[in-house]
Amino acid sequence: MTVEVESLAPYAASETASKGRRFDEPPAAYRGEYQRDRDRIIHSTAFRRLVYKTQVFVNHEGDLYRTRLTHSLEVAQIARTVARALRINEALVEAISLAHDLGHTPFGHAGQDALNGCMRDFGGFEHNLQSLRVVDELEAKYADFPGLNLTYETREGILKHCSARNARQLGELGERFLQRRQPGLEAQLVNLADAIAYNNHDVDDGFRAGLLDLGQLREQELFGKHFDVVHKKYPSLEDRRLIYEVIRRMIGQVVTDLIEHSATRINELAPRSIDDVRSATGPVIGFSDHVFAQHAALKEFLHKNLYRHEKVSTMNKQTQVMVERLFATYMADTSHMPDSFVQEGSKDGDSKKARIVADYIAGMTDRFAIAEYERLC
Ligand code: MG
Repeated sequence: MTVEVESLAPYAASETASKGRRFDEPPAAYRGEYQRDRDRIIHSTAFRRLVYKTQVFVNHEGDLYRTRLTHSLEVAQIARTVARALRINEALVEAISLAHDLGHTPFGHAGQDALNGCMRDFGGFEHNLQSLRVVDELEAKYADFPGLNLTYETREGILKHCSARNARQLGELGERFLQRRQPGLEAQLVNLADAIAYNNHDVDDGFRAGLLDLGQLREQELFGKHFDVVHKKYPSLEDRRLIYEVIRRMIGQVVTDLIEHSATRINELAPRSIDDVRSATGPVIGFSDHVFAQHAALKEFLHKNLYRHEKVSTMNKQTQVMVERLFATYMADTSHMPDSFVQEGSKDGDSKKARIVADYIAGMTDRFAIAEYERLC
């Protein structure tokens, strides 16, 4: 049964134009196919683990900070608002949003960089590609197929970027990276909703952690102008509420701009189908130049002042050592891993073994990786 909003635009992803699943399945009785993808993602093991995985702050540093799970929920919230306004497929953007970070290692980008270093001679490690690997291969739940057997459009949205070498191994899904084509609007949207979510929640988390102060934040155009409005209206508001009043305005402004600018682009291009969108010369969903510049400046500011902050860097160095030592330990003796991994790992050469070790480490939560490090190293 096809369950879709009647008002879906012709350029939206739709079940009728879907490229389908890798393994054919009968349709669900009361759910649309993208809803079904979303449900499979929510019930996956990798999704549950996101709650104990670092976004910026390592999970045990405090209960107040975003984790990969709450980040993914915020991405879904933003993306759904925009999808509804543009009449594109809300169920699909929700599925992509909830799955987009499933392949993240413990300890955030520091963990991914360390694992990529360990995998240098074995094809590398990339969290985005790993997200696809989780839903295509690693989730073991169904009798008839590996992974979650998601629709092509959800998988297309999960794979945001990809090297030419990896793209060649991915069949139809990799073709757009070789032919420089675009993904559907839903995929384009989640990519930007991701950036809106972290730009804003990292200001909030960074401020509450005491790593960013109001003085430096006010120098940012996007933050500064909303700060002035809030401060004028509520001169004696305490910082906790003040910063949230600023952030909600920042999100409101960039989301509104994203909707309005994208709607203009859609009108100009007038795509009649998702395939028109895919063959457009560039992305259709996007900010106006002015807001893009503000958004990019804030992102750059966060890189310099938060992600590379001395305290964050110190923690990153510690966690990178943990990942490297764990990788070396499992490579030297695979019997430290659970039986299911050992059996597979013992069959082939080092490259196959390394990939299995990388899959095992990537699947760990922060706290499990720390416990394993303490147990083995
Ligand atoms: Mg993300």
